[in-house]
Formats: sequence, structure tokens, C-alpha cells
Amino acid sequence: APDTTIFEQRESEVRSYSRAWPAVFTRARGSWIQDEAGRDYLDFFAGAGALNYGHNNPVLKRALLEYLDSDGITHGLDMNTVAKRRFLETFQRNILAPRGLDYKVQFPGPTGTNAVEAALKLARKVTGRSSIVNFTGAFHGMTLGSLSVTGNSMKRAGAGIPLVHSTPMPFDNYFDGEMPDFHWFERVLDDTGSGLNRPAAVIVETVQGEGGVNVARPEWLRALADLCSSRGILLIVDDVQMGCGRTGPFFSFEVAGITPDIVTLSKSIGGYGLPMALTLMRPELDVWAPGEHNGTFRGNNPAFVTATAALEQYWSDGMLARSVRTKGDQVHAALADLAGRFDGLSARGRGLVQGLAFTRPEQAAAVCRTAFDAGLLAETAGPTDEVVKLLPPLTISTDELALGLNILTEAVASVCR
Ligand code: PMP
Repeated sequence: APDTTIFEQRESEVRSYSRAWPAVFTRARGSWIQDEAGRDYLDFFAGAGALNYGHNNPVLKRALLEYLDSDGITHGLDMNTVAKRRFLETFQRNILAPRGLDYKVQFPGPTGTNAVEAALKLARKVTGRSSIVNFTGAFHGMTLGSLSVTGNSMKRAGAGIPLVHSTPMPFDNYFDGEMPDFHWFERVLDDTGSGLNRPAAVIVETVQGEGGVNVARPEWLRALADLCSSRGILLIVDDVQMGCGRTGPFFSFEVAGITPDIVTLSKSIGGYGLPMALTLMRPELDVWAPGEHNGTFRGNNPAFVTATAALEQYWSDGMLARSVRTKGDQVHAALADLAGRFDGLSARGRGLVQGLAFTRPEQAAAVCRTAFDAGLLAETAGPTDEVVKLLPPLTISTDELALGLNILTEAVASVCR
């Protein structure tokens, strides 16, 4: 058995994944991660979406090693650096310009929740209004602002005290049949007699990752965007988990042809598993005063270097987006097949975020445990952790994908038999 004594003795009880995976990991490459006993696991978790280009991607590693070797700046707050310039130029050239997008870029801090905090604060500052509309099942981060718009009672309980005001709305899930209409939502927004304040912004994920792989229809996202723009409510798309190609296109909202007012990115934007976050805003929304939202680690220069290398390698053409769609179809077909074979299962997803939902959460947990024993890392998501969520690296080969899906299929068959 692996020696996990020090983790159990010294690490806070809040740790989670160490409990799901009782191993001590040492090294990783591509879609594989190894524990100290020398066992290899296929990684269908990929840092909860932080490793879209795989572990220790050789192209990114070379760029990073060359940079460190040349004594490149590692810590620079928001000073002008060559690494930051190259990142901004490449982001403009490979991501914004080809999509006809015009966003100013803020580096709000190292993690996804920092990007969300900046987005919420900015929306409040721009509109002079305070409340935010969020959705049931949403996940936006663990700091107080982001947690206020997170629709998960267990996570919210971690705050202990009431949070910033938010108004939760039901999330669309295109497997639920009829598209919900926004009629009653409009009536709430337009009511002037009840003391309800028009919100500053609506924050939404196009696919809820932590919420259990709940996929919003493009038409629903378009209707939401129209509703917001007709009422001067800002639309924030949180692309922390679904951005950087997870669903196919670089931005997950491209599927709906909408242009959010504010966009958050993190997880895979640094590319190498290095902390990095962006808050993108339409230029006229950039009402920040200098120094109004700062933070020590908001300019991680090694992350700029790996981010630039990733944008150059994977986003100068449409190849990665196309392969994500093909591989996503491969995963979805396997999950749909399982859903056809066993009662109570359903499959859903978009691109390389795919979920297999169980009616009984203990089955989802048992599948992950069985898969782990057979050499596959996958985690559960959803309000009661009833969904097995698959997030392989986007760069995974179809053979590796097939291998992982075989392990999963056998795990499901042994749990549901
Ligand atoms: N938004 C979304 C959609 C996320 O999935 C996450 C992380 N799971 C966050 C925000 C928070 O990011 P971080 O954990 O880096 O703070």
C-alpha cells in the first residue's frame, strides 16, 4: 500500500482527490500519470480541465526550459515583460482576430476564481447595480464572490455565513426536451413594484462542468444573450473549464455565435498546468482605475511562455478543434452505448467533456473506484456526484481514448450487472 501517513496526519481534512485516488503520484507525460509504485494510469481527469494539452507537453516544455535557461523573468507582477508582450500578441493574432473579437485583457490573479471575482466586480462597477443572476448547478469558484454565484449547497455551506446577493435561475439542459422560455424571467426583471433590483450581470457556463456536464443549447444561450442586451444586463460567460478548446472551438460560446460582454478563462490557458487567468472585457467596459484590482501573482511569466507556445502550436489552424469534435463523438458513442445497455444511465456532453449520469450516486462512485483499480482516473460531478465526468487531454490519441473507454465500459458493466 502507498505511504500516505503524512497526508492523513498533516493535511487539512478539506483535501478531496487524495481520497478518491489513494496513490502517491510522481510523474506524468501526455495522457498518462504514474504513481511511485510505477503503475501507469490513463488520465481522464486532466487537472479538472487544466491539462488540455496533456502532462509535460514536449513543445511547451521546450519553450519553458529555454525561457528558464535564459534567466527569463519568473515573477513580474504586471510589469511590461517580453513574455507578456508575446502572449498578448499571440492571443490577439491567433484567438481574437480570427474570431472578429475585440476584448481588453485583464490578468486578475492566478486562478479561475480570481477571474470570476474580477468579472463580478467589473460588472457591478460598470452598471452601478449589485446583484448577479446565476444558475442552478453553476460552479464559479470558492472565494466569497464566486461562491455567491455557485449553485452547490455543499460548497456554499463551506462559507458558513450568508453570501453576496445572487438570484438563481434554472439552467437549461438540452436533454430535457422543450426549450424553457424566459417569459417569467423577463417579468421578474421588468418588475418595478416589488423592490427587486435589476441585476448587474448574468453569469453562465455553456456546459456546467462541476454541475454534472449539463449542456446548454445554442438557442438557449442566444435567447439569454438577447435578453441581457435588451435590458442592459451584462453577460458573463465563465469559460474557465470549457474554454481553450474543451468543447471544440477555443471559446465554448462560439457554438452559439454570441459575444459575451465579459469572459473568464483559466485552467488550460497557461497550457502546462501553470496558474494563469484572464478576464476579457469589451473595450468600453474597461472602467478600472489603475491598481483597483491587483494581486501579487497576476503576471506569471513562465505561464505566459507556455501559454504562447500552446496558442502557436494548437491554435494557428482549426486542427485541434476538429479533432476534439471527432474524439468527442468517439467518447459519446461509447457512453451512449452504455446508456443503451444498462437501465437508468444517460450520456451527455459536448466535444471532450462527456458525462455518464447514474440514478444512484453510489454507482458513479463505484465506477470511478473500479476504473482507478484498472488504471483509469475519472472523477464524479453533479449535485449528488452522480455523474462520471470524462475530461481527457485534448491531445489524447484515439487509441488511448479507446483503451480508457474499454476500462470504463468494464467498470460500468461490473457495477451495474
Ligand atoms: N469556473 C469554472 C467554470 C470552474 O470549473 C472552476 C474550477 N472548477 C472555477 C471557475 C474556479 O477555478 P479555480 O479552481 O482555478 O479557482
